[in-house]
Parts: sequence; structure tokens; C-alpha cells
Amino acid sequence: MKKVYSIHPILVFVLAQLAWLSLLGIWITWYVSNYIIFNRVGDKISPQMVPKTMNIVALVLGLVLLGLILAGMYLIFIYLNRQLQVTKMYDNFIANVSHELKSPLASIQLYLETMSRRRISYDRRKEFIELMLKDTRRLRNLIDSILDVSAIEQRKIAHSFQIYTTQEIFPDLINESISKFKLSDTAYTIECNADGQCVLDRNAMLIVIDNLIDNALKYCEKLLNIKFEVTTDKKWIHIKVSDNGVGLPPKQTKKIFKKFHRVYDKKSPNVKGTGLGLYWVKEIIKYHGGKVSAKSAGWHKGSTFIIELPIYGVSKKGFLKKILKRSQMHFK
Ligand code: ADP
Repeated sequence: MKKVYSIHPILVFVLAQLAWLSLLGIWITWYVSNYIIFNRVGDKISPQMVPKTMNIVALVLGLVLLGLILAGMYLIFIYLNRQLQVTKMYDNFIANVSHELKSPLASIQLYLETMSRRRISYDRRKEFIELMLKDTRRLRNLIDSILDVSAIEQRKIAHSFQIYTTQEIFPDLINESISKFKLSDTAYTIECNADGQCVLDRNAMLIVIDNLIDNALKYCEKLLNIKFEVTTDKKWIHIKVSDNGVGLPPKQTKKIFKKFHRVYDKKSPNVKGTGLGLYWVKEIIKYHGGKVSAKSAGWHKGSTFIIELPIYGVSKKGFLKKILKRSQMHFK
């Protein structure tokens, strides 16, 4: 196929700016030199008609306008750059999702063709059905996660917020998620020393914990060890989830919460994903009036995800009251 050479849009933008700035420079030089000539001639012909000082106001105004134009151009440049990055991430997302959709479908098709063409034993048939069910679950999870992220963005998800005792709800949620992932008893520890109450949408918080455990499993190349710590200070509940996985370079700890963002590095395991999981986590925590962050000592040194939520009746009182009232009205 013929290779198409394209110029990067940012380069085109920079060249265009250089072109108009050069043009402006030439024009100013031309104008100033003519102004000087005009002044000298004017001085000789009729000195009283020509002002002795240059029009300072016009000069200052011109410089201010030029500054404003440059600032505007800079903002457009930043915006354009960001849009290009999003487009690139979106392309990666489409490629990953297409693969994630195609491969379970292909394997379901293969099992069905084998079953329809050949005579197979009852046990084998049962095994095939189990495998097909696993693939359909994978497909469903993927489709659900994409639809849920889109619904949460459009604020179409009605949250069912309720008041829970922190000391009880978190071990409860963590254990529920752990049994879903069938983690062995030696793979995790839970420490919970928390006071007070919190306001949660239970299902949404379960999605958060599911995502963090799923990632800990995906991005760990050895036997997983995951630690959950729930503590409180005067105002906030802190939920720390630490793993012994591949870790993260410092530059990535903020970026991983961006929509579609994935870490592409030789040191990171080649795992399929959409780059939506942590974005989803961030959005859910935001709806709870909290924050989420990540830290890591570097590659192969594990990662820690920290969620902070307000204690009910202590911090973010107005916000928590509002979300409780809204969900009570909705689920009446
Ligand atoms: P996905 O897992 O589908 O790529 P996520 O939004 O869940 O999307 O994660 C974004 C990126 O953050 C991942 O591609 C991965 O590189 C990194 N990441 C997430 N969780 C961990 C973890 N526990 N350890 C190391 N890296 C992680």
C-alpha cells in the first residue's frame, strides 16, 4: 500500500503562528521606518503639525492587543494538543475494545460449530457450555462497563445513597468482592479501625472495589498480595488498597485516572483493557464527595490506591444531606 505522509497538525499550527508573527514583525519594521521618515520630513516642512513624542497610548494598546492575541494562540495550542492526545487514546480504546469483543465471540462461534458438526460426549458438551458462558460473561462485563461509564457521565445513573456504619460496611464490601474474584485466604488482609458513619451507594462502591481488585490481579506478575486498610481521622475516612504488583512510574500516578489512559511500557504486563476502570472509580468517588489518588515507589514496587470519603455529620455536611435527599426522592 502507498504510504501517506502527513504533517502533524501541531507542526502546521506552529508554522502558521511563525508565519503571521514574521508578517507582523515585517509590517511593524516597515511602519516604524516610514514613521521616522515622515517625522523628519514633517519636521522640515511644518514642525508645529507633527507631535514631538510618539503616540505612547497607541503603542501600549498595540502591545496589549498583541499580548492578548499571543495568549489566545497559546490557549488554542494547549487545547489542540489535549484534543490530539484524547483522539490518540480513543483510537487505542477502539482497538482494545474491538479485540476484547472479537476474541470471546470467535471462541463462542468455534465451540458452537464444533458442537453442531461433531458428535461429542455429554461431559465435553458441558465443558464447552461452561467456556461459552465464561466468554459471554466477559462480553457482558465489557459492554456493561462501557454503558455505565457513559451513563455516569451523562448523569443518567440514579444513585441510591444510604447511611452506613464505616466499621461494618467496608469489610462487608471487600469480602463480597474478594469472594467474586475467588482470592485465596493468603492473598489478602483487611484492617479496619474506623469511626463514624458514611454515605454510600453500595452498588457503586462495590464497583470501585471490584475494579481495584481486578487491576491488582491484572497488573501483578507474581503471587498477589493485597492489603486493605480502612482508617478515619477527624473528618475523613481513608481506604488504602496496596498490592505487590508491577507498580507505576511517578509520572503515571495522576494520568491513570484519565479516560482511556493506559500505561504503555515494556515493564508493564501486556494485559488487555479499556483504560476506563480507574476513570470510572474516580467518577464514582467524586459523586460521593471524595477523592482518589495513587502512589507507587516505582516499577515492581507495588501500588497503593487511596480513597478519601467524608465522615457523615462531620465533613461535607451540606453535600451529603443533598445527595441523601435526592436519592430518597428518587427511590420513594
Ligand atoms: P485498564 O486496566 O483497562 O487499562 P484502568 O483505568 O483500570 O484501565 O487502568 C489504567 C492503567 O493504570 C492500566 O492500563 C495500568 O497500566 C495502570 N494500573 C491500574 N491499576 C494498577 C495496579 N494495581 N498496578 C499497576 N498499574 C495499574
